Amino acid sequence: MIQVTNVSKRFGKHEVLSDISLDVAPREVLVVIGPSGSGKSTLLRCLNLLEQPSGGEIVIDGKPLLAKETNIVAVRAELGMVFQQFNLFPHLKVLDNITLGPVRVRKWPAAKARDKALELLRKVGLEDKAGAYPASLSGGQAQRVAIARALAMEPKIMLFDEPTSALDPEMVGEVLAVMKRLAKEGMTMVVVTHEMGFAREVGDRVLFMEQGRIIEQGEPKALFERPQQERTRAFLSKVL
Ligand code: ATP
Ligand code: MG
Repeated sequence: MIQVTNVSKRFGKHEVLSDISLDVAPREVLVVIGPSGSGKSTLLRCLNLLEQPSGGEIVIDGKPLLAKETNIVAVRAELGMVFQQFNLFPHLKVLDNITLGPVRVRKWPAAKARDKALELLRKVGLEDKAGAYPASLSGGQAQRVAIARALAMEPKIMLFDEPTSALDPEMVGEVLAVMKRLAKEGMTMVVVTHEMGFAREVGDRVLFMEQGRIIEQGEPKALFERPQQERTRAFLSKVL
């Protein structure tokens, strides 16, 4: 579903991603971990071209992302992204936050977008918040709306960048539960997170990055219990 080959990213002289190659299979949940500044967000942002890689190749669902003839807007619509900060439009009600993309980008009729939005709000347990403004939501509710908004575009892949890091502890569980359900339904997901419980329970594979490189990857249980690299061990000893 995702093939990344020898991708690098430089900001000026600073090489933030070095020779990254990875594959994500359909329905796979890949969890990305690593210290601050290791390039996790930059990697996710390269996958939907919020950042332009300096070199390498990225193929998303069979389409070469960096080829001139590729329609970036169309490929990007296949990728839903959820950030640490929910970035809901504050002047729009919850329902309108969710219908905006489908109406503008997918050209859906308003009624169809509305039905889909209400279905997604049910799915994330917030059907009663359709008419609320983002400012009236808790952090956990806002993040669930952000997930519903991303899903409304019917993406083939969901990218999550530390979706629970900005939340009060008591709200982390409700967001992880929505993500877990999504994984069960077979969504292909790349998740940057510090939630090692989630990684272990939901992840098919965990990938450890440091200084812009993939140091090690494997099944969660194996990687957590028997890391092969000293650097992985040192990192895990701080977070587990
Ligand atoms: P964190 O866990 O803190 O979110 P991260 O692993 O997501 O860290 P990135 O945000 O990808 O790390 O950043 C990797 C490196 O790239 C950092 O050194 C950062 O300062 C640098 N960097 C990221 N974005 C830019 C930018 N737009 N311009 C210059 N440098 C950048
Ligand atoms: Mg980051």
